[in-house]
Amino acid sequence: MNDTKKFVLPALPYNPNDLSPTISSQTVDLHYGKHHQAYFNMLNTFAEGTKFMDMDLDEVVVKSFEEDNKKVFNNAGQAWNHILYWDQMKPGGSNAPSGKLLEKINESFGDYETFKTNFTQQAVGVFGSGWAWLIEKDGKLDLRGLPNAENPLAHGEHALMGIDVWEHAYYLDYKNVRPDYVKAVLDNLINWDFVADRLR
Ligand code: MN
Repeated sequence: MNDTKKFVLPALPYNPNDLSPTISSQTVDLHYGKHHQAYFNMLNTFAEGTKFMDMDLDEVVVKSFEEDNKKVFNNAGQAWNHILYWDQMKPGGSNAPSGKLLEKINESFGDYETFKTNFTQQAVGVFGSGWAWLIEKDGKLDLRGLPNAENPLAHGEHALMGIDVWEHAYYLDYKNVRPDYVKAVLDNLINWDFVADRLR
């Protein structure tokens, strides 16, 4: 048992005001500084003194989901989900997908506009709190809408991108209008080069 280890919130890869106006610095301060930090704190609390402390975060997600350990999974899942969430965005985004990623989008969804429409519908279709995911499976791309902390990793699938549709992600900036938030993030913040680098 590793008694000194703690799961640590990674640094935000940009300044909290860099995503503005699509996501305000107020939202980032709360979402990263309070919510994301709290998932790490709770994970450390619930995993303390257990075998989970000897695993890396990916393993904790997979194992705790498999064992239906909800206290550990909910916090490990959210810790993992938000790392991808922050990493996949950059101020000003990176325009539209290109190269191999664009080819796969065209192959799997028809074209980029259809992909964005379908992704937004998937995000709107998540009832209550959860995430909309772009995944790669058997060489093709697909979408998943999953509740609460659930992610493709827990389901044995490979996530390329995930958009948080918990109200804390958008309520200050978009009130109840979830589709506007999702569209704005896709258009203005997603770093498609980062997403492309996750292709297997
Ligand atoms: Mn969140």
